[in-house]
Amino acid sequence: MLPANVGDTMTRTIAVANQKGGVGKTTTAINLSASLARMRRRILLVDLDPQANASAGCNIDRESIEHSSYSVLLGLCEAHEAISTTAFGVDVLPAEADLAGLQVELVGAEDRDFRLRSALKTLDQYDYILIDCPPALNMLTINALIAASSVLIPVQCEYFALEGLSGLLETIARVRQAHNPSLAIEGLLRTMYDRRNRLANEVADQLREHFPDNLFRTVVPRNVRLAESPSYGMPVIDYDAKCAGSEAYLALAGEMIAPASGGTTELKTRTNL
Ligand code: ATP
Ligand code: MG
Repeated sequence: MLPANVGDTMTRTIAVANQKGGVGKTTTAINLSASLARMRRRILLVDLDPQANASAGCNIDRESIEHSSYSVLLGLCEAHEAISTTAFGVDVLPAEADLAGLQVELVGAEDRDFRLRSALKTLDQYDYILIDCPPALNMLTINALIAASSVLIPVQCEYFALEGLSGLLETIARVRQAHNPSLAIEGLLRTMYDRRNRLANEVADQLREHFPDNLFRTVVPRNVRLAESPSYGMPVIDYDAKCAGSEAYLALAGEMIAPASGGTTELKTRTNL
């Protein structure tokens, strides 16, 4: 991987964030990355979660990696030195468990919230950089929000879906005000939707009421193939090209590439809330 020029503005850097756990952040980060790569976009997936689920789901062997997002944020190596490639055309900056201790290791470092932004600025060969955030509004998520041009928020279609959203939106507003004025909301993505479930329908409707201008048209259904594919180290489009999960993430990638093409008034992405 070659180092690139600093200062390029063409890359769209998207933080996939929600401090609520298990809402589909990692599933979205992997499968949206793979779907965008299928559409010939150059993609880097940054794993910023000490759980390293995105790295495992992309079949990155922990034993074989020398560097990770941890070493990059600690300043032990350049971003390009830590990037692995995958069979499905997505480059990955993998995570390792040591990331969990980084907040303590960087206590007192004035630039600690800006380290990811600085590291990613050294790369300009990507169309999209997707950052898989941990389920917390901690220093790692703040690093992602400061590095990002927009935030994609997966929301599980179940009771308490809106819980925590206000905290996330407040944090985004604070980051925007203090450090990253152009930080946009890429969109809220409804995940694990089961159309036979009355509650899921109610929550999906509620989200439409609350966020009419910031909701993706695509809804990701509950689909067992999406849950199975990471254990094979594959995105769902390689595991089962025809399943509902594959269709959904390809549709989402299409929406992101050409947000106006569907012609609905419901979708207005990249606006500020
Ligand atoms: P964490 O907060 O722990 O990082 P997360 O927000 O990244 O979690 P995922 O790991 O993507 O969430 O998803 C949580 C679980 O739900 C996983 O087991 C995943 O395989 C499964 N899952 C995610 N999306 C779907 C879906 N649409 N249909 C079925 N299962 C899903
Ligand atoms: Mg995750």
